[in-house]
Amino acid sequence: MTTDNKITFQEDGSPYSEQFDDIYFDTESGFQQSEQVFINGNQIKQQLLANQGEFVIGETGFGTGLNFLLTLHLYLKLAKQHKLPKLHFISTEKYPLTRQQLAQSLRCFEQLTDEVNILLDCYPEQLNQRLDVNIVTNKVALTIYLGDATDSLSQILLPRKSPGLVNAWYLDGFSPAKNPEMWTPELFQQMARLSKPQATISTFTVAGFIRRGLQQAGFRLEKQGYQGKKKEILVGKYQQNRTSGKGYQLRTEIAKPQHVTIIGGGIASACTAYALTEKGIKVTLYCRDKAIAQGASSNAIGAIYPLLHQQVDDISRFYQQAFWHALKQYKSLAKSGYSFSHRWCGLLEVSYKKALEQRQQIFADNNPWPDELIHSVSKQQASELANIALDFGGLFMPNAGWIAPAELVTQLLQAATVNNQLKIKTSVNIHGMTQLENKKWLLHSNKGDINASVVVFCGGAESIDFPYINQLPLTSVRGQVTSLASNEKINKLSTVLCHKGYLTPSHNNIHCIGATFEKHSHNTQASIKDDQYNLNMLQRCLPSLNHWQQQDITASKARLRCMTPDHLPVVGAMPDIEQHKKRYAHLAKDKNWRINQSAPVIENLYLLTGLGARGLCTAPLLADILLADLTGTPYPVDSDMLFNLSPNRFIIRDIIKRKIAAHQ
Ligand code: SAM
Repeated sequence: MTTDNKITFQEDGSPYSEQFDDIYFDTESGFQQSEQVFINGNQIKQQLLANQGEFVIGETGFGTGLNFLLTLHLYLKLAKQHKLPKLHFISTEKYPLTRQQLAQSLRCFEQLTDEVNILLDCYPEQLNQRLDVNIVTNKVALTIYLGDATDSLSQILLPRKSPGLVNAWYLDGFSPAKNPEMWTPELFQQMARLSKPQATISTFTVAGFIRRGLQQAGFRLEKQGYQGKKKEILVGKYQQNRTSGKGYQLRTEIAKPQHVTIIGGGIASACTAYALTEKGIKVTLYCRDKAIAQGASSNAIGAIYPLLHQQVDDISRFYQQAFWHALKQYKSLAKSGYSFSHRWCGLLEVSYKKALEQRQQIFADNNPWPDELIHSVSKQQASELANIALDFGGLFMPNAGWIAPAELVTQLLQAATVNNQLKIKTSVNIHGMTQLENKKWLLHSNKGDINASVVVFCGGAESIDFPYINQLPLTSVRGQVTSLASNEKINKLSTVLCHKGYLTPSHNNIHCIGATFEKHSHNTQASIKDDQYNLNMLQRCLPSLNHWQQQDITASKARLRCMTPDHLPVVGAMPDIEQHKKRYAHLAKDKNWRINQSAPVIENLYLLTGLGARGLCTAPLLADILLADLTGTPYPVDSDMLFNLSPNRFIIRDIIKRKIAAHQ
């Protein structure tokens, strides 16, 4: 093995490669740098906690082993409290350090003394053949391939039909300027070949040719702010827009737009505007009402909680991920000083009937979800949590709560307006749109025609007749919410209660109950009949709580929700339905027919809609998916989930089920 990499030690003790004229790490900040770039950049902690079986990290350039030692340090710390997957750290090294050089290099990291000793115990005086050791029996294994990184990775064989090997990549090595031989498209191809779907990657360099090379290989990347000498690092995920015979799942790629036009003024629009402007995209938002948040987002209080089934199915997987995502976003918004009424008071799904008791029992016997998401509680526990006597136990979601949606929408838009990135135009009713020859748009409105390049439709149920959008199976469902004056008996209620409907805790001395569910209605006039329905529903489900009469009603509001047939929202490019019918017609004869041709779309038209009654929970995650569509950055969800949310899923399913006459 070549050892022509002469290492000297600088005054501060840090190792320096004469051959590459570069340092291995900065003694002062090496620890933090490696931690930030590789451990945090790959979210190793979160990944270790979320994975089972085996977790594999791949690295280019083992060097002094600092990245490995930091990973081991984190692993051993987490293992004290959590059940972790086995860790296999696979690294490559062309110019290995001797054991003595390693020991001298790592002397400055007092925080890692235990880990350094573990490594030195198994590292030979001269590393001249592949090292394959169990560092912690049955828990942590280390393999170091000797030689050039690309050659080494190409030696690793994957079993046929294997979904890949590596969960996270540390793309290290001396800087591309000083070591251009390593940073090649061939290396990136090898990394892609070995990546599991959704494998993460991070590197300290943001050089354009590296970014493009990795993108070519199937990594979606984004620059991340970094507090150090470098301003930015590169992080990403292996999310190859791969067909595997299902071309209709391919999402369109466009160059990051400078300006986006949003149609709509509710939570979907606000989250989209917030996500896009954060990434420096200018946005103009058109709302047909006199003010924003007049549709479904205008209700006084909205509960925020995920839809969870008793098995971990696609729907629940989406809603639980969306829920944590939303929570993180709203909490960080509030922390940044944008204030909106809300309370993370938990939410109790009351087992008011036999079927729900049985469901609760399933959660009690074998909860498919983490307890912090949902867990079973007895009648007594439920009463304590709610702070009022309840007749039933139920399922409690401790992190759920309620938000005043209109205030939230206002604050999100306020945050998006910072740096003049967002313009809001109210009282503009866009009723039609014409695609121009250059594939841009002319929007037709009550205020005249408006030019737009990329359009995102975030309209709710009021706009399901909109051109193009009207080809999707969206329906309008009317829901009336009734506000009631609080009283001594109920004002202690300290959590949201869900039965067939829901009851929120007192806010400004008002409780909300709801909601009615009337399909295909477009009527937004509140009715006495619907208030009575809400009161009756409460009486039927929670009889001991019912002491409200019609005269206690302080307000009633009926709004429309936009629903899809499969209860999942839609986000992504608007499909060209006629082209779909032609291109995928054969699916009607053979649903497993393999076709790599990608999904035809209406260029520059995107949508984010169909949020039903759960927009508070889902809008932030959906907006980040749309952001990834428009900027080429990593998707926050996996490819199966992406298709479950894709606007073209309906037409593909219809073709497969032979529900439509497909063209040959
Ligand atoms: N990850 C290391 C650590 O934690 O100490 C730091 C790595 S140092 C900046 C870069 C390493 O990449 C060096 O050890 C160098 O010998 C190695 N290297 C450079 N070119 C290489 C190549 N083509 N293949 C494999 N390793 C290479």
